[in-house]
Parts: sequence; C-alpha cells; structure tokens
Amino acid sequence: MKNYYIMTLFPDMIMSGLKTSITGRAKKNGIINFEAVNIRDFTNDKHGHVDDYPYGGGAGMVMQPQPVYDCYKYIENKIGKRTRVVYLTPQGKVFNQQMAKELAHEDDIVFLCGHYEGIDERVLEMIVTDYVSIGDYVLTGGELPAMVMIDSISRMVKGVLSNEVSAQDESFSDNLLEYPQYTRPEEFMGSMVPEVLLSGHHANIEKWRHNLAVARTVERRPDLFSDNGKTDKLIECVIEYFEGDVKRIQHMIKVYSLASHIAKMEKVDERTRYILETAAIVHDIGIKISEEKHGNCSGKLQERYGPREAQKLLLKLCYDEELIERVKYLVGHHHTYEDITGIDYQILVEADFLVNMHEEDMTEEQIKKVYSTIFRTDSGMKMCEQIYSV
Ligand code: SAM
Repeated sequence: MKNYYIMTLFPDMIMSGLKTSITGRAKKNGIINFEAVNIRDFTNDKHGHVDDYPYGGGAGMVMQPQPVYDCYKYIENKIGKRTRVVYLTPQGKVFNQQMAKELAHEDDIVFLCGHYEGIDERVLEMIVTDYVSIGDYVLTGGELPAMVMIDSISRMVKGVLSNEVSAQDESFSDNLLEYPQYTRPEEFMGSMVPEVLLSGHHANIEKWRHNLAVARTVERRPDLFSDNGKTDKLIECVIEYFEGDVKRIQHMIKVYSLASHIAKMEKVDERTRYILETAAIVHDIGIKISEEKHGNCSGKLQERYGPREAQKLLLKLCYDEELIERVKYLVGHHHTYEDITGIDYQILVEADFLVNMHEEDMTEEQIKKVYSTIFRTDSGMKMCEQIYSV
C-alpha cells in the first residue's frame, strides 16, 4: 500500500477532495492511503497561531518553523523512517507525467502545503527533499497542488485504475497527446463518428489514432516533441552503427551540434528543429552500406541507400511517420543543392558544409564559392565568416 501524508492547515479540504471518485475507491480498496495532518495541532502558541510577520518587512504573513517541524516529526515517527518530503511551491520543478510515474514507486510520501506568503526557510532546509510546482502561477495555498499531485501519482499505482491500459495509452505517454475519443451515438446533431472507428479493423484504427495523436501534438504542444530523450538514444544508436569509425562518428556529432545551434539562432520552431536534429544525426547513415555494396560512398550512393537505412533505425526507436518521411527526404537530398526547400534542409546543408570545409581541406576559393552560392541563413553565414575568415 502507498501512503501519502499531507501537512496542511486545511485538512478537510484535502480529505473531502481525495475521498471522492477514483482516489477514494482506491483508499477503500486498500491500494493507497492518504492522511491530512493539521499543522495547527502542533503549535506551541497558546492562541493557536502558526504564522507571524516576516523579518525585514514586506506584505503578508509567514508560517512559523516550530509547528511545521513538529508536525513533520510526528509523521516521520509514524512512518518509522525518513522519506521524500515534497514542498508544494511555485518555486519548484514543474510537475509532469514523468514525475508522477517516478513518485508512484515510492511507498511513503509527505506533502507540505504552504499558505500565506509561504514557510520559514529554515524548516524547509531541514525537512524538504523535493520542491515541486504545479505550474507558473501563484495559488493561495499548497492544498490544491498536493491534491493534483496525489491524484496523478495514484493513477500510476497498479490497481488504482480498473483498466490498466488507459494509463499507458493516454496523453503524455510516449510524449504524444491522446487521439480524439468518441462514444455513442454514431450521429450527434449531424456530426458522425469517423468511419474507421466503426470498421472493426484494429490495425487501421491504431494507425489512424497514432496519426491523429501526432497531428494534435504538432498543433497543440509542439514543445513535447523536443523533450522525449529520443535524440540521445538515436545518437547512441548511430555511434553503435558506425562503431570504430572515428571519422564518421565525429562528423555526425559536429554536424548535429552545428545544425542544432543554427536552428536555435534562427528561432526555428521546435518541431522543425527536432526533425532537423534527427536528420543531422542520420544524414550520413547510407555511407556504410554504400561502401559494403559498391566499395565507395559517393554522395549519390549515399542518397540512394541513406533514406532506407534511416527509416529502419527511426522505426526501431518509434519515431512518428510524418517525421520519418521528412528525415528520409533530407537524408536523400543533402547532397543536392539546386532546389533547397525548407529551413531544415537549408540548415542541414550549411552545417554539413561547415564541417566538410575543414574535414575535406577545401581551398579558400572553394570555401568562398560554397559560401556565396549555398549559405542563406544569417547564423550559418556568420559562422562560416568567423570560422573560415571568408
Ligand atoms: N510568496 C510565495 C512565492 O512568491 O513564492 C508564494 C506563496 S503562495 C501565495 C502560498 C502557498 O501556496 C505556497 O507556500 C505554496 O505551498 C502554494 N503554492 C502557490 N502556488 C503554487 C504552485 N504554482 N505550485 C505549488 N504550490 C503553490
């Protein structure tokens, strides 16, 4: 059983919120337990005060350290060991699904809710292990944030949700928002449920749902794409792919870093940058197979074999279809300079040249020519000027 203790000045608020619906049922079933402990019960002040004016002046009141410390000690004794103590604060790390999953492994967690202008810093330093915020805005107290966290963490605890699959499939798993959902009736005010969902064809339904999840994430939360750890995994895979080939591996890392940097300087949107970074990591993936099959790796051979090799690797790491298509195009065209369409394509070519100018020992004249005919972005041009004194 998982035990959640909430240190608060408003225990009723917490208990009445959490005892409803799914968390309440999980408590009844003995899967989780939650207990709100009133900080006020521990004050030594004869009038029951728990707050005072801030030293140094300023608006509002501050919660005093003594009641908070004694309340915590009471809980620690009850648990019998030191556990994680989460202070809910707008100054903390912003809570997300990943954090919920991690905290769901803890058997006991203590949540500390502040009120007024916050809590005396000394007691925080003594007892808190994690500072967590539920978003960049200020609330009157930590009670709602604690309830938000406990609700979300509980859903990740085995047995809390009746249908385990629902937690795996929904928004933020795999860093995608969930696909749209429909239920009866089939027609509502002239609007029909998408046909594919009525077809009973599971593979098509899954494909449709995945494509909509990707499209929805691109439209509503493009920032989610940039932060799923896939890029790091892909770099590892490509290093493994070229194992022992120092030159290729170094080339890949350099092109990737320059492409990423130029994209940031050019303020390219997150989704496009993600595609570009992916393409930069795999841009030369066709080299090995070209050499194995033909004994050389001309640009044209690479363009022929690269897209298929890139696709294999990206599918293995579960990249979405739309991204894979664009990356294949970029890998297949990064030696074609006549008709560069798209900022991702332009930056990839510039980053590749910035590295190749040195690696291939280009003459001053060759560099100048490439600079004037190929380079277009302000940041790429500036880099070329600074690195090669063009
Ligand atoms: N003066 C504090 C500051 O500027 O950081 C804000 C205090 S706030 C009015 C009172 C309490 O509400 C905090 O101690 C904290 O427990 C809680 N709180 C407010 N906003 C929060 C948020 N976004 N996430 C988590 N807790 C929050």
